[in-house]
Amino acid sequence: MATVNQNYLKLKAGYLFPEIGRRVRAYKQAHPEARIIRMGIGDVTQPLVPAVIEGMHRAVDQMSRQETFRGYDDSGIGYEFLRKVIAEHDYKPRGVDIDPDEIIISDGAKSDTANIQELFGPENVVAVADPVYPVYVDTSVMAGRTGPADEKGRYVGLVYMPATEANGFVPEPPECHVDLIYLCFPNNPTGAVATRGQLARWVEYAKAEEAVILFDAAYEAFIADHSIPHSIYEIPGAREVAIEFRSFSKTAGFTGVRCAFTVVPRALKIGDVELRSLWIRRQTTKFNGVSYITQVGAAAVYTPEGQAQIRRTIKIYMDNAARIRQKLGQLGYTVYGGIHAPYIWLKTPTGMGSWEFFDLLLERIQVVGTPGVGFGPMGEGFLRLTAFARPEDVDEALDRFARL
Ligand SMILES: *Cc1c(COP(=O)(O)O)cnc(C)c1O
Repeated sequence: MATVNQNYLKLKAGYLFPEIGRRVRAYKQAHPEARIIRMGIGDVTQPLVPAVIEGMHRAVDQMSRQETFRGYDDSGIGYEFLRKVIAEHDYKPRGVDIDPDEIIISDGAKSDTANIQELFGPENVVAVADPVYPVYVDTSVMAGRTGPADEKGRYVGLVYMPATEANGFVPEPPECHVDLIYLCFPNNPTGAVATRGQLARWVEYAKAEEAVILFDAAYEAFIADHSIPHSIYEIPGAREVAIEFRSFSKTAGFTGVRCAFTVVPRALKIGDVELRSLWIRRQTTKFNGVSYITQVGAAAVYTPEGQAQIRRTIKIYMDNAARIRQKLGQLGYTVYGGIHAPYIWLKTPTGMGSWEFFDLLLERIQVVGTPGVGFGPMGEGFLRLTAFARPEDVDEALDRFARL
């Protein structure tokens, strides 16, 4: 008899966004004329920039001719033309020397942050922030690294690191030993960033505990202050203890195109096993790479035109974020984030619960956010607003907040 992976049955999965969808649909059914503004799900709204489109068109034409057609990418880790420009433009200017062969191209940071767990034994203890991007938690559950969830939705066996107003939403390393640490800066959902000093403490902890940091830098392009690290490898010693994940999804609007990459330095070893070799083995066995057309599009992001164009798009989102922060601040709300990240972490007024505030906004002003408690128990009392909405929708939503 076939049996199911019992770990999947522990998942409280798919609760947050389906529940938001259910409440929004119910409201719409009762009020068909309502114009609902969605500032909930973290998807981009601006189109791909012209440099990317031109690159992809060129690549499509190449695929149409015998002489320039491409099938499988034999390297298995992505085309060198893309890995080289990444090393050159994303790392070198920050003083980080990454070999293009330490960069492995993939279809998403979501899949990579999940799949990376395969490299580690089942007994590894995983630490995550609370609140957190749900992928790290759910994939730890699927991998069998946890027990069941308690009534608050916390899984036995995971180490939760509270990200609170008191610590500026940047948790301290835990008092106990852990083996794998998921960190995400700039952070989804809180919008917090970590300073060099804060990241250095994590690297120090990982060295002392012989732990591995899984650093999700999907939002690095939104960092507005040069002194804030864009990469964990800006911290001395990090290449011996950290894997870094990046994505073109938020940086260049690739959420529907799919292209990302993971950096596994050669210096990162457990005993004498190079994790880089294991990751390449994993990827080349289970994944046949990102399409040539997509990789040409991604490389076009690094041309001077591409850079100028994606900067303009990012500015649209960060201008949204600034207006949200400013207006809600004027209205007396406590707001966090939105300076180095496209997320605003809004404290609910008068100690209201996350879902209670969600319902109030839906009922009274037809604005949809994401209840903070959906990202973990410590998110209770907060609501996440994204700055990825269209500017006119942001302005309309802010006008409605003013009338609340
Ligand atoms: C959006 C997002 C990603 C990007 O995922 P892709 O699979 O590359 O689209 C990664 N991490 C976090 C925290 C995100 O919010």
